[in-house]
Amino acid sequence: MSANRSRHVVLVGGGHAHIHVLEGFAADPPPDCRLTVVVDTTIAAYSGMVPGFVAGHYRREQLEINVLPLARRAKAQVVVARAVGVDPRSRRIVLEDHPPVEYDVASIDIGSTVAGLDLPGVREHALPTRPIGVFVQRVARLVEAAREHVSEEPFRVVLVGGGAGGVELAFALQHRLAVGAGIRVKVSLIDRGPRILAGFPDSLVRRVQRSCEARGIEILCDRRVAAVAAERLRLTTGESTPYHALVWVAGPASQPIFADAGLATDRRGFVHVRSTLQVVGHDDLFAVGDCATLIDHPNTPKAGVYAVRQGPFVTDNLRAWLAGTSLRTYKPQSDFLMLLNLGDGTAIGSKWGRSFQGRWVMRLKDWIDRRFMRRFQLPESASMGLSS
Ligand SMILES: Cc1cc2nc3c(=O)[nH]c(=O)nc-3n(C[C@H](O)[C@H](O)[C@H](O)COP(=O)(O)OP(=O)(O)OC[C@H]3O[C@@H](n4cnc5c(N)ncnc54)[C@H](O)[C@@H]3O)c2cc1C
Repeated sequence: MSANRSRHVVLVGGGHAHIHVLEGFAADPPPDCRLTVVVDTTIAAYSGMVPGFVAGHYRREQLEINVLPLARRAKAQVVVARAVGVDPRSRRIVLEDHPPVEYDVASIDIGSTVAGLDLPGVREHALPTRPIGVFVQRVARLVEAAREHVSEEPFRVVLVGGGAGGVELAFALQHRLAVGAGIRVKVSLIDRGPRILAGFPDSLVRRVQRSCEARGIEILCDRRVAAVAAERLRLTTGESTPYHALVWVAGPASQPIFADAGLATDRRGFVHVRSTLQVVGHDDLFAVGDCATLIDHPNTPKAGVYAVRQGPFVTDNLRAWLAGTSLRTYKPQSDFLMLLNLGDGTAIGSKWGRSFQGRWVMRLKDWIDRRFMRRFQLPESASMGLSS
């Protein structure tokens, strides 16, 4: 590689880690390189505030991060196109309806999709939580359908997936419909495991279960969905459950982008990375956030907090790669402050195996989320360098 040639750094996706790269490169641009950001959409929704939005506490623009001003500040070219493949041999990112983009070094931060979308009827009848931006747009329709529901029966909302996202959305929808809109509603949370919130501390799970009971949210465990039809879903046991709105939040699954590239992946299709965040076998390709699985820490949860923590590492390591110096190694924290919004102005939190609950916990969550947004929500002053 010639030392004088301007190298092309390509960021694919505008996720939690890449907005940090844009911030870092704007503050201290690496020499002799040009930067391109490829995004399927220029607006990313910050998932941490989505349950609060669904509950009716935030406006949509409060949870949106526009990548354009961040890119502009970093003097990056923006390509608006969906990445559909990677060719690590010719160092190209393959795009939908757009010529491929060549890179010298690239990083991928495209998040995940929802598992189980290929089950019969799910795409037609369910509202998946990803892409989050689309989910956020479609929540208003769900609320409208509940308002128009005229029947003796309550409006039945079923959420499939009892992870943190499913739990928060169950509380958020119960609050929005029952308290915010005065609608008679029955919310049920279905999970295939023996209990909701697998992997979370017992004391937190007990608090969530008690709060569900108090709010009339039904928890149905050990149930697997086999197929979905209009207003009814069928379980593998043969039982069926009626619904009026079905929210699909069945855990993260990989986008198909890595499958044909010959890259090493885990069994769910997430690309394998080393602790430097470089894709296994390809030092000029990094991957971060939900889309990557660390070979040394394969059970790291797919959560935004990890993607955020990887931001400074991938920023420094792209810089080190360009400079030819040694790279930092990332080790995920063994525990993090977990905060679940209950949609009614309170939240449940846990850290180091202990849990806590109340209005103050929600105030803490709100403060953390707003601080994050203040940092990355820049005013849109221009869309220079945009290509689509
Ligand atoms: C309802 C809900 C609530 C959640 N709440 C929390 C929470 O409170 N705390 C927490 O830690 N985690 C939470 N999560 C999980 C969290 O959303 C993810 O772990 C996090 O978003 C992952 O960040 P990321 O940077 O990997 O990807 P994302 O934040 O998903 O960003 C991906 C980016 O890539 C772009 N993109 C996607 N596909 C392509 C493509 N093919 N080509 C080009 N660009 C593409 C997107 O537009 C986006 O800009 C929640 C998830 C859900 C569903």
